Amino acid sequence: PPTQEPAYIAGLNPPQREAVLTTEGPVLLLAGAGTGKTAALTARLAHLIAQRLAWPSQILAVTFTNKAAREMKERVSQITGGAVEGMPYLGTFHSVCARMLRSHAELVGLQSNFTIIDTDDQLRLLKQLIEANRLDIKRWPARQLAGLIDKWKNRGWTPKHIDAAESEAFANGKGAELYAQYQERLKQVNAADFGDLLLHMLTIFKGHEDVVEQYRDRFRYILVDEYQDTNAAQYDWLRLLATPRNNICVVGDDDQSIYSWRGAEVANILRFEKDFPGAKIIRLEQNYRSTGHILSAAGGVIAHNSGRLGKELWTEAGDGEKVRVIAVWDGPEEARRVGEEIENLVSKGASLDDCAILVRAQHQTREFEERFIAIGMDYQIIGGFRFYERAEIRDAIAYLRLVHQPQDDLAFDRIVNTPKRGLGDKAVATVHQFARAQSSPLLMAAAQILDTDELRPAARNSLGRFVADIARWRSMAGSMPAAELMKTIMDESGYTAALQADKSPEAAGRLENLAELARAMEEYETLDAFLEHVSLVMDTDARDRGEKVTIMTIHAAKGLEFPNVFLAGWEEGIFPSQRALDEGGVASLEEERRLAYVAITRARKLATILHAANRRIYGQWTSSIPSRFVDELPEEHIESEATMSGGASLWKAQFSPHDDPFAHVARTKPARTQTRGPGWQRAQSRYDSSEQRIVESRGSAVSLGNKGRSDLEVGQRVFHGKFGYGTIEAIEGNKLEIEFEKAGRKRVLDSFVNLEG
Ligand code: ATP
Ligand code: MG
Repeated sequence: PPTQEPAYIAGLNPPQREAVLTTEGPVLLLAGAGTGKTAALTARLAHLIAQRLAWPSQILAVTFTNKAAREMKERVSQITGGAVEGMPYLGTFHSVCARMLRSHAELVGLQSNFTIIDTDDQLRLLKQLIEANRLDIKRWPARQLAGLIDKWKNRGWTPKHIDAAESEAFANGKGAELYAQYQERLKQVNAADFGDLLLHMLTIFKGHEDVVEQYRDRFRYILVDEYQDTNAAQYDWLRLLATPRNNICVVGDDDQSIYSWRGAEVANILRFEKDFPGAKIIRLEQNYRSTGHILSAAGGVIAHNSGRLGKELWTEAGDGEKVRVIAVWDGPEEARRVGEEIENLVSKGASLDDCAILVRAQHQTREFEERFIAIGMDYQIIGGFRFYERAEIRDAIAYLRLVHQPQDDLAFDRIVNTPKRGLGDKAVATVHQFARAQSSPLLMAAAQILDTDELRPAARNSLGRFVADIARWRSMAGSMPAAELMKTIMDESGYTAALQADKSPEAAGRLENLAELARAMEEYETLDAFLEHVSLVMDTDARDRGEKVTIMTIHAAKGLEFPNVFLAGWEEGIFPSQRALDEGGVASLEEERRLAYVAITRARKLATILHAANRRIYGQWTSSIPSRFVDELPEEHIESEATMSGGASLWKAQFSPHDDPFAHVARTKPARTQTRGPGWQRAQSRYDSSEQRIVESRGSAVSLGNKGRSDLEVGQRVFHGKFGYGTIEAIEGNKLEIEFEKAGRKRVLDSFVNLEG
């Protein structure tokens, strides 16, 4: 007699059910977006527990994000009707490995309470090592080495795996050596970086049969979501754990492999059958997420990729709305339009939580953030910082603030050694000490310290250059648009060059963010007005927990779904990214296309694609070409529309995305060209107190408190912390000429000497 089916199985379709019920042996669930792979994996987990095939602690379940792990845990609790407390091995690769490594840390020379360091710490350590090896940090930036080490770790390579050819990638063959030193250093400070969590576990598994046996014995079942994005190290780790039982179930979609730039290897999914003989391959074809037009539009785009496994998708949800393709005039209009569309949806009963804006690159969020702040629409940024909180944006703004307002000590501190200009903590501390003694702003103190011997010559030189730079930029500020000033500052300070030298993918994003900042500044007449705007924008952080629109990158949206999705910036050079276009290879373009597929398939009911006819880059209008992915959308599944609000006119027309409706407009719009001022003088190598006068000379003058101490006089014997005992030979304001007994004649600051005795 048919026993009553548990509810978690009753709702599944036959192939999903098969994926749940085939508990023994390897299973690959290979299927397109929204077909219920994650749902099936969750049901399988619940089934294993509910049927007591394993205790929760005997199941290893790997998800792509911690959020996905939490959701899976909640769903399993709901399904099994009990709390799933003991699922210690449900999490991301990182979180699971971290837990394991705590128990075996000593096998790789760590203690169980090791710290997991973040990217900032990692970069600081690497920088110290690069400098200790007497390499030029400008030529060989820490970030580049970090990228390389990550790559090696993603492949499961320890330093001894790195051959000469690989090592060549950094500092003329020093790569492997630096990697080894870095690992050694981490051990000394009892720390591991993210890549180590997995790498150390691999090392332990390979070197200690008893340990790997212990886990093989424990894990009756292994489940992996988003399998197409596993890298080689993760793959090895899974294989080591799965043998010999091979009760491993992985789910994925080759069309959604979007992390190859981080070492993910889609080949892992293609060779599953070979590596796990007898694997059962299950395909799902019914999509439960999206309506028909959305699915067909996504399918039409991804069909342009070669070498796919190929999948059919169908839905019972009906055709629904066609995918809308909207051409707008420029970035601000894109944001305005999306805001209006969302307001419109809300007025028809949608919740802000139902709406998401997906972008290709982080910098694209800025325009939306400003618009939403302006119209008071709550939003959240997932998987990234709000635009004005990003490090490079804060740096640039700190420069501007200091130029605008020399008393801004917070800004001074942030950038005095950013980019690195060889000012050690000691030099900066000396400036602080003097500033405190004088009650003067740090920049003033820095200017004053320059014609003394308080700092070592190298530090004095670079501090001098910094002070002179700030003064010069300050003198330019009035005669130059703010955006141009910002660009000048970033170029002349070496900030841009440091990012350009850095070959990591993040560096490219940072440069884009700076260009985006320049775009934001162009809307403001003066630097004051812009900085005022920034402080207001930054102040809106503390928000309530009500409904909000989600803004995130496509990468961060993997596995998620929203009723209404807005896909912004579908233009050549944005999406596909300039990087992919520059690389020119088929592989990078195909990865962009998979991203497009992921993007469209996040939508349940309404997908809206936008592209702008114009984008501004550092004040230059450039006309953009709609993304090739727009052209690849099958015409019968889309509805195109152009809106333009140039001046008072607003028109709307039906047109095919294959025409460029703005081609002529873009060309007649006068390009805002800019000229760089006549060659300004590079800072001289000698600095004298005239610098401080320049700093003072404009705008809000700062009192320097330049009076000397009244308790000092010529001929007095004094003590100075650095130079020892000496006799005052001359007094000039707050500066003293002292003949030191050991160090000779020096110029020092009066606040740094003590009266003898
Ligand atoms: P992606 O490839 O984007 O990760 P997926 O294949 O993991 O997608 P899920 O997120 O599991 O798909 O499911 C997509 C949507 O379909 C979810 O809203 C889910 O609740 C629903 N769904 C899954 N299976 C079924 C089913 N058998 N019946 C009804 N709805 C289902
Ligand atoms: Mg999924």
